[in-house]
Amino acid sequence: MEKQGILFIVSGPAGSGKGTVVSELRKIMPDVGVSVSATTRAPRPGEVCGVNYHFTTRADFEGKIAAGEVLEYTEYLGNYYGTLRSEVERLLGEGRDVILEIEVEGAAQIKRSFPDSVAVMLIPPDSTTLERRLRGRGTETEEVILRRLERAREELKSVGAYDYVVINGEGEVERCAGSIRSIIEAEHCSRTRMEETVGGFFG
Ligand code: 5GP
Repeated sequence: MEKQGILFIVSGPAGSGKGTVVSELRKIMPDVGVSVSATTRAPRPGEVCGVNYHFTTRADFEGKIAAGEVLEYTEYLGNYYGTLRSEVERLLGEGRDVILEIEVEGAAQIKRSFPDSVAVMLIPPDSTTLERRLRGRGTETEEVILRRLERAREELKSVGAYDYVVINGEGEVERCAGSIRSIIEAEHCSRTRMEETVGGFFG
């Protein structure tokens, strides 16, 4: 039987460790497709266009929104970030599970448009850890760090809209990736997703 991919959202505030956990997940589940988002933010040192993001201009991004090429988007600290329809359709078309690593507002939009999607919120164990992680990146100004912290506080209030919550403490990247793998495997066994298979059992 053809494998049907599932759309997974891995979300959570900046500093929750989404990026690191999703990279680890790719190592242990290489078949899972991770959608590369579009953004108008400037690349950080070492970031590569087409790998970390599709870096683009505001005019191009707005053109894509108008053309219906963006499944969800948000304006985060003055820059657009969005999921490209083409990325998601390509990966699901290959029968793969797809991970969207996006912030909370985008996660809510995806949940509305794709009720079958599964949303996982990754959270830091406490606010001190969150602040340390944001500062530790060393690439942002104090003003940006404070705005990211404020946004993180707001984002944590949306936890009720999620299907799963994973706490990412210090040194727990592998454990968190393992938890998300368990969630992915469990979702493939969920009764509602299996109804067709079971129903067609005796022809
Ligand atoms: P950063 O600038 O640190 O790469 O990303 C800032 C925030 O935007 C992070 O929370 C990241 O998960 C989120 N983000 C990245 N891509 C997308 C996207 O396509 N859509 C939405 N809604 N958020 C995104």
